[in-house]
Amino acid sequence: MNSPVNFTTILKDYGTDEKCRECLVRLRWPKGITCPKCDSKKISRVYERGTFDCDSCRYQFSVKAGTMFNDSHLPLTTWFYVTYVICESKKGVSANQICRMFGVSYKTAWYLCHRIRMAMLEVARPKLGGTVEIDETYVGGKKRRWRPRSDKAVVIGIRQRNGDLRMIHAEDAKSETVRQIINANVGSHVEVIVTDESAIYPWALDKMQKNLHKTINHTREYAHGDVHTNTVESAFSLLKRGIMGTWHKVSAKHLPAYLDEMCFRFNNRKNPYLFRDTLIKLLSSPHIEYKQLTKSKAA
Ligand SMILES: [Zn+2]
Repeated sequence: MNSPVNFTTILKDYGTDEKCRECLVRLRWPKGITCPKCDSKKISRVYERGTFDCDSCRYQFSVKAGTMFNDSHLPLTTWFYVTYVICESKKGVSANQICRMFGVSYKTAWYLCHRIRMAMLEVARPKLGGTVEIDETYVGGKKRRWRPRSDKAVVIGIRQRNGDLRMIHAEDAKSETVRQIINANVGSHVEVIVTDESAIYPWALDKMQKNLHKTINHTREYAHGDVHTNTVESAFSLLKRGIMGTWHKVSAKHLPAYLDEMCFRFNNRKNPYLFRDTLIKLLSSPHIEYKQLTKSKAA
């Protein structure tokens, strides 16, 4: 588990549910199996059922108890393979593709993909610093001649140069909204803030940030030495290729989850243990029901 994986090692090491279960036990309890109810370490194992009995409080549990894997009728092998495929696909995977690859129903595939995406949400996101690029883009919606952006979703991208990326679905592109997003994601250790010459930013930045602000005029040039927003723009083009090519139609309600998935994959692009780390997140994320995901909040 502590060495990088590829599809061959996945099939060899996690080819049966028992192997997957053993892997989850090691990841969930690296210091020994612990009762989820009373934290006791006096545990008896019931090998034939793959469950555990707590000798202190008599609670019976499995490695899946209280995790995202709970109540799933899917074999653990399917969870492992789909997690691997999602981790490895730079532009994302659609539920339809998972349906075809693993012979599950569309509903099952959709629910599975969403739970894996939710587990990928980064729990603690440190604020960005150093040189930070900020830009906005518009995704989805229909093309209309006269009101081209009215039904499109606004996405604000913030990228620390040589560091992490954040993509946030904004209510609108007004400076007050953008100001809140910047303050939630950019720390006081920021040194340079680069944007284009959009009228949003002079209003969205506070006094300290304004002193660090540099702009690039895109009608004239794409970069002026170090002053450019190319790295956040390349993240946007990856996002657009993902939405156009893979997911086809992303509803506004689920857009934040897709953005988080893209950022997670991007920020972990040099992490050879992404598969293992995603499994750990699946174990530490609470179970979410299908009903909760499909509750119609927005379209
Ligand atoms: Zn117990």
